[in-house]
Amino acid sequence: GGAQTEGKVYQIATDTTFAPFEFQNDAGEYVGIDIDLLKAIAEDQCFEYKLNPLGFNAAVAALESNQADAVIAGMSITDERKEKYNFSEPYFDSGVVMAVSNSNEDITSYKDLEGKKVAVKTGTEGAGFAESIKEQYGFELTYFEESSFMYEDVKTGNTVACFEDYPVMAYGITQNNGLKIVTDMEKGNSYGFAVLKDKNSELLEMFDKGLSNLIESGKYQEILDKYISAK
Ligand code: GLN
Repeated sequence: GGAQTEGKVYQIATDTTFAPFEFQNDAGEYVGIDIDLLKAIAEDQCFEYKLNPLGFNAAVAALESNQADAVIAGMSITDERKEKYNFSEPYFDSGVVMAVSNSNEDITSYKDLEGKKVAVKTGTEGAGFAESIKEQYGFELTYFEESSFMYEDVKTGNTVACFEDYPVMAYGITQNNGLKIVTDMEKGNSYGFAVLKDKNSELLEMFDKGLSNLIESGKYQEILDKYISAK
């Protein structure tokens, strides 16, 4: 940061529970790949921020209404979003998968969703994908504001499946979230840090510079390895 950022505290909105990108540890502190990256980048670039875990859709709404300066929330860099936001360089690749309760043997493909209810998270790339195929496969959508609510609904059997980002679902399964992935990953977009178009360009620049420094120094890989084991 330079003179422009002196004394400024950026408001950064994030999701509530989206492990391994943002979640609370046993001490109730927010941790995860996004949280640690942001912290390391802010240290590297000397800017101050306040983290606001609002939920994904609420974080994007906060950005749009100028309540937030930026969003870091495993947010996919989609063409549609690029019309409204400027994104950093991509920092993590993603895509969408379908998951069902791990005791469910009946739903193994999109065809099996006919006449059924399916859970999605409001405003996400997963929801957008499900919306794009729901007529073709004849299923109905139920919307949730948080990934954890969506998983619970699938486990109780109100909905038979949910659509979620692969890295998040794969991590959740290693944490025994009670679900299993039944489809190949649909091609999705990588994650980026977002600001409104024409606003906070200096913040975006610092993010990109910091990210590239962390990649160079090995700190980026260290953060990934802390949350995702290479095995
Ligand atoms: N990557 C997805 C998106 O950007 C989901 C993000 C999230 O749920 N935090 O839409």
